[in-house]
Amino acid sequence: MKYYILFGPPGAGKGTQASAIAEKYNLRHVSTGAMLRDEIAAGTPLGEQVKSVIAAGGLVSDEMVEAMIEHVFDSTKGVAGFLLDGFPRTPGQAADLDAILARRGEKVNAVTSIMISDEVIRERLAKRAAIEGRADDASEETITNRIRTYHEQTEPLIDYYKKENKYYEAQGEGCIEDVREHLFDLFNGLDMTFQKGQVVIDEALFHQLESQAHDAPRLRMNYDLRNSEDDDSQRMLNVWLPGSKLVVHRHQNSNETVLLLRGKMDVVLYNDDGTEAERYHMGGDSGVCGINIAKGCWHSVEVEELAVTFTGKEGAWAPNAKEDTLVIKK
Ligand code: AMP
Repeated sequence: MKYYILFGPPGAGKGTQASAIAEKYNLRHVSTGAMLRDEIAAGTPLGEQVKSVIAAGGLVSDEMVEAMIEHVFDSTKGVAGFLLDGFPRTPGQAADLDAILARRGEKVNAVTSIMISDEVIRERLAKRAAIEGRADDASEETITNRIRTYHEQTEPLIDYYKKENKYYEAQGEGCIEDVREHLFDLFNGLDMTFQKGQVVIDEALFHQLESQAHDAPRLRMNYDLRNSEDDDSQRMLNVWLPGSKLVVHRHQNSNETVLLLRGKMDVVLYNDDGTEAERYHMGGDSGVCGINIAKGCWHSVEVEELAVTFTGKEGAWAPNAKEDTLVIKK
């Protein structure tokens, strides 16, 4: 079983992003906050007990949430793993989770975090209160408490998981699609499958990837050409459908070579302020079949018709850092 933690301050969009990630990687999304709200709505004894703490923006006792979590682990079948949202919330809960998983012969695989500033937390929680009517988003005072609880009790988890080399961070202030895109990139890297032996690159492979791309929320499918984790190059095929959106990003430690094998797409380069700098048409009558994108250059693609690319980069895969994703305010 895989155990992933989706981390971030209140209002970062964990709940919004979790369902797409859970569906793509066959994970059960476990939100302790949602489970507690269900208990309150159903008027159970547990719900009655936690109601006032939640309404005040504080934290429920470790015993209660950990019992709920263990019950979910025990009773869930048929998934590849779990996507924990809202748990652990303190280093104490993280240590308890390690112990719970150790008893099952398991461990936390990775923590992916969605980061936003306090100012954006305030804006988002106020908006959510108006839409969903959540008691814990309702007043300025509760919001202030939740932000304080996050910084004092939950934020130290970042160091806890950084020390274990399990912490990956996504930029959370872009639009929902851009954040999802960044998270998928992180999860793709964490969930790598390697090819066994020879791979023939032919139309049959392209068709297989094309049909997977049609079912994929990102309207594209990649195919990692490496054979093992020890392979520290980056070589991959991608099949892109029109409408597929790639977040504007850069690679500070690597040049990137993109070769177009089929179809038509533009590679677009951006300035630091998010304005378009240059655009290269590839395929069709352009006569261009590839681009070498220089280290540090902001870029993205726009897909005109079904396209197949090969991409090569230097060095081993590493997640794109938050500061290497450009938020373009739309
Ligand atoms: P959330 O939906 O994750 O923002 O959670 C809403 C509220 O539920 C929090 O403000 C806490 O009061 C409570 N809660 C959720 N998860 C936990 C947890 N792991 N430990 C303690 N309290 C929690």
